[in-house]
Amino acid sequence: MSIPEAPPGFRSGFSAVIGRPNVGKSTLVNRIVGEKVAITSPTAQTTRNRLRGILSRPDAQLILVDTPGIHKPHHRLGEVLVHNARTAVGDVDAVLFVVDGAEPAGSGDAFIAEGLKGLQMPLWLVLNKLDRRSPKRAEEIRASYRELVNATGVFEVSAVRGTHVKDLVEAVVARLPEGPYYFPPDLYTDQPERFIMGELIREQVLLLTREEIPHSVAVVIDRVEEGEQLTRVLATVLVERQSQKRIIVGAGGSMIKQIGTGARQQMQKLISGKVHLELFVKVKENWRQSEGALRELGYRREQ
Ligand code: GDP
Ligand code: MG
Repeated sequence: MSIPEAPPGFRSGFSAVIGRPNVGKSTLVNRIVGEKVAITSPTAQTTRNRLRGILSRPDAQLILVDTPGIHKPHHRLGEVLVHNARTAVGDVDAVLFVVDGAEPAGSGDAFIAEGLKGLQMPLWLVLNKLDRRSPKRAEEIRASYRELVNATGVFEVSAVRGTHVKDLVEAVVARLPEGPYYFPPDLYTDQPERFIMGELIREQVLLLTREEIPHSVAVVIDRVEEGEQLTRVLATVLVERQSQKRIIVGAGGSMIKQIGTGARQQMQKLISGKVHLELFVKVKENWRQSEGALRELGYRREQ
């Protein structure tokens, strides 16, 4: 993969994607990039690290920094997430502020809007989940967000269905500065495959166990062995309590088997090849409270 010379008039830049947990940021990034980059789930706050999705076209390159939801911190992991979301906004060419447009603005949105005041770059307000909005409430909902932010432009989209997402992309790209290709055009994420593999496993855990296992789960990819016919992946699912381990393993190992099957299928798509996945479950008490454990797991505090 090499980086080509940008033609005259080429536009490029970075855009932060911010918003409350669960408003559809990851879904939107995936929709724009067209490949699965960020994990999505019905439970809030699933994106832990900053994840970049890259859209490359003959005339432009847009790099989306998918951030964890900005929220009020409850414990150390929360603090790290907030810190990383804030720094993501510091050094970008555009900001996409994504909200759940099926509902009027709430205090969480107001909290974020406050943090966005005085930004110099274009700020795009994205009212997502258009497919779920009652037409009767459209005006009321629009007005509640308009009151919060003075946006460069407002788009009503459905990330799930793709409605109006192209219009949003066109507007964002049109206001990017002229610049080079930052990444090879055939790359859709700059995150190593290992990290994405871990996220795919975590996604299955969250999907299959729902509320029973909250966010006290982390995944470490212990080893990736690439063979001719098959890629062998060894990974460990870390939880905080013995009771959580029991849920994840399931009766006679039934749950971990289901998690493994789901994750393996996603991984095979990611690497376009056969995957053999071995999963282990370990209890590591209070890993969320310990800075050392966070670092070990790759949740680095970014400068
Ligand atoms: P994030 O926390 O902001 O990254 O949110 P996700 O992208 O993980 O999405 C959270 C949930 O909202 C998932 O269940 C998505 O399927 C759902 N979702 C995202 N976009 C839309 C949308 O446009 N319409 C509907 N109905 N659901 C959506
Ligand atoms: Mg997300």
